[in-house]
Amino acid sequence: MVTDKNVAYLGVIDPDHIPGDMDEIKAAGCTSITLTVNEMDWWYYRTARKAAVKEARERGIKVYLDFHGFGIFASPIPSAVYPMYNPDKTQVFTDGRRTEKACPNDAGFETWFKDIAKQVIEEFRPDGIFWDEPAFSPCDTYPKAWACFCKNCQEKFKSAFGKPMPKELTDEVQKFRQDSLLEFLTRLLKFGKEAGGKTSILCMMPWSRGTNSNRGWYGILDWEPFIQIPEMDVFATDPYWIHGGGWNYFTDNTREAVELCGKYKKPCQLWVQAVWIKPGKEPEVKRTILEAAKMGADMIAVWSYKAEPGAHVLDFGGDHKLVWQMVKDAFAQI
Ligand SMILES: [Zn+2]
Repeated sequence: MVTDKNVAYLGVIDPDHIPGDMDEIKAAGCTSITLTVNEMDWWYYRTARKAAVKEARERGIKVYLDFHGFGIFASPIPSAVYPMYNPDKTQVFTDGRRTEKACPNDAGFETWFKDIAKQVIEEFRPDGIFWDEPAFSPCDTYPKAWACFCKNCQEKFKSAFGKPMPKELTDEVQKFRQDSLLEFLTRLLKFGKEAGGKTSILCMMPWSRGTNSNRGWYGILDWEPFIQIPEMDVFATDPYWIHGGGWNYFTDNTREAVELCGKYKKPCQLWVQAVWIKPGKEPEVKRTILEAAKMGADMIAVWSYKAEPGAHVLDFGGDHKLVWQMVKDAFAQI
């Protein structure tokens, strides 16, 4: 049974617009929002973010706070403060190119982020934290090149395996990358709980499970160790297929997530895309939501409110209004 219907809510900077949006979100049947807070929101538009929390709460809508950016989470654009001040500490590909993401093995980044995260949690008092797609930087030539080959990673690898870190993506390197993210997230989720972040949702990206051709593309080979993090309350994934991944991309990843969550008795949150929709593909949004419910997702979420009509990079020409109507139709049926 679906216990929570959620939509991501981004970037509104005028508090006067927020009550109307929350009325619409409530009318769509949503029981929670995923409120993105990136560096620009935190250092510039805090008033609007606080208004969103208040207006949601007044309508009985839960607020999950999404660290959207902050060095290592989804979407480092439009602002990346840690890399701006520490350009020599970001992740490095094995071909020498620096990436825009902070490294999970950079203790300085972890200290920086925890300090800010504590302030953000105390300011907004959310019902939970949505840890959004933490990852090693995906490389355009993966698996030929990969991240991270920074000084910290090389030193840590050497002390773990007793030899220099190779530039080939060996089994040991794969294990090192996954263990690095697992250790980082285990510390971070514990910290989030202690800071008052309440429910902890961890969103890990999917991969092509049919062929396994891109397994490990963001550093993770297996979700199972992450589902066992003690402070992880809800496991989430976002198998966006409508723009080209294929239906199996959605069902294979959904099945794996639901099965693993069942094994460890933790709820599964499934994300359905309402962006990158081409003309004629709008009904696929409804079909995907209904199938996610049928396959056993406990919580279903949609990225994002009204199909994010202001984001030109996410616009593949589909009818935004029709996409949002598909979300509402599907949410009314589950
Ligand atoms: Zn590194």
